[in-house]
Formats: sequence, C-alpha cells, structure tokens
Amino acid sequence: MMTRQFTPAAHPCVSAIPAFDDNYIWLLRKPGSPCVAVVDPGDADAVDAALQRDGLTLTSILLTHHHRDHVGGVEALRARYAPKVFGPRHETIDGIDQRCIEGDEVLLPELELALRVIDVPGHTGGHISYFAQTFGADPRPLLFCGDTLFAGGCGRIFEGTPPQMLASLDKLAALPPETLVFCAHEYTLSNLKFAAAVEPSCDDVLARLAEVASQREIGEATVPSAIGIELRTNPFLRSRDGAVIASAAQRLGRAPTSSVETFAAIREWKNVFR
Ligand code: ZN
Ligand code: FE
Repeated sequence: MMTRQFTPAAHPCVSAIPAFDDNYIWLLRKPGSPCVAVVDPGDADAVDAALQRDGLTLTSILLTHHHRDHVGGVEALRARYAPKVFGPRHETIDGIDQRCIEGDEVLLPELELALRVIDVPGHTGGHISYFAQTFGADPRPLLFCGDTLFAGGCGRIFEGTPPQMLASLDKLAALPPETLVFCAHEYTLSNLKFAAAVEPSCDDVLARLAEVASQREIGEATVPSAIGIELRTNPFLRSRDGAVIASAAQRLGRAPTSSVETFAAIREWKNVFR
C-alpha cells in the first residue's frame, strides 16, 4: 500500500472484517495470542470465518449502539464462543455482561488492553465510544466510535438532538490529534463529496476527496482516519469555521446564531445531499 496523506498507516493489532455493504467489524488482536475482541459484530458468519481462518478465539465483544448492523451477530457468537460482552448502559440490547457509561474502564486482560468509555449520544440515545491510550507496541491512541464520527462525516441524528450530537463530536474532537478513528462504515467518499460542497475552497478537503476517490477505485479501505485529519477536513467538526458558517447561512437564508444552528443546518443538508 502506498503512503497516503489522509489515511494513517494501519495499526498492527487492529484489522477490519468487512460485513454487509459497507460495515467494518474491527478485530483486535495482540500478536502471539489467539484471544481476540471484536467491535460491533453485526454479522456472526463474517466474524466466524475470520476466526476460523486464523485459528483465533473470541474472548470479548464491544458494542457501541443497538442498531442491527452492529449487534446482529452477538447471539450466535455468544453461543459459539461465550465471550464477555460490553455495551451501552442506556440502550436495550440482549446479551450484555457489562453495561457501560462515560468514564467506565473496560479491561481486556487477554489482550492487555484497557479502554475508556465516552458517552456520545445523538445517532442513538445511549451510543458509547471506546478510547484506548495505546494497544501493543504502537504508541498511537485508538478510538472505536461506531456511527458517531465517520471519516469525513458523522452519523445521522436518529434518537438524539443536534446539541447532543455536536457535544458528542466535540468530545471526540478534543482527543489527541494522532488518535486513530475506527468508525463502523466505509462512507468516506460520499462524506468527502459533501465536505467539498460545504467548503469548496478548502485545499485539505479537495485533496482528501481526490485521495479517497482513488483509494475507493482500487477497493482500498479509507478507515482508520485520525482526529487531526478530521479536524482539517470533516465539516461536522468545523461548525465554528468561517466557510462552514457561510455555507450554513446560505442554506438557512440568514446567518446562523450559534454553532449548534450551523451544525444542524449542515447535518440536515447532508440528509438530502446527492
Ligand atoms: Zn447505527
Ligand atoms: Fe451502522
């Protein structure tokens, strides 16, 4: 793989199991151990095939929110591997052993991995993210954020409100810029097309759009991203930026009165953008 400006080098202990049309189920593995964790296993068969192929055993599952494409495989994987299942306290999901909220620590001793839970309501009412300071020999922090922050975009606001979603994204934006962002979908190309409509004169956005387009042409994953890359190119982290405010004003027909109003206008625009 050639060096990309907007896709950080892969993490040696994290790999993607593609599922459905555009989901990524993240597989966490410490070299030398057969024990693995998966994040948001919507499809048990996809996970099973990856485990069988490499002779691995599933010891933990991390869930970010209750949508079917993220939890659909839990029941079958529980029956097959009896992993410990972590998930959001404030959502109704069957089969969770440890129900987590902001500030909780998730300890995966088999992987020598500790993650901190961050509440990120908005896409769903009780959506959580998992943040790790480091994993294995790679010094970079890691974030598993489900459908809250995407590469170049953010999740739809299904159960929460724009102020909630913006506050959730602000928390993630405050993480160290080198933090790797493992989101749950390959939506980056359509997100960047929209970002280029919001900020048509932003060089970073245009350069990232070109890079992502060429990556997708050869079937390359554009995830993980990094917080620093998102701060430069993701319109949903840039609702205090002049160009984003100007685009929101154009949509609203007047100047937005707050960053929440800017964010909400941009999010609504994205819902109808083709
Ligand atoms: Zn979702
Ligand atoms: Fe999803």
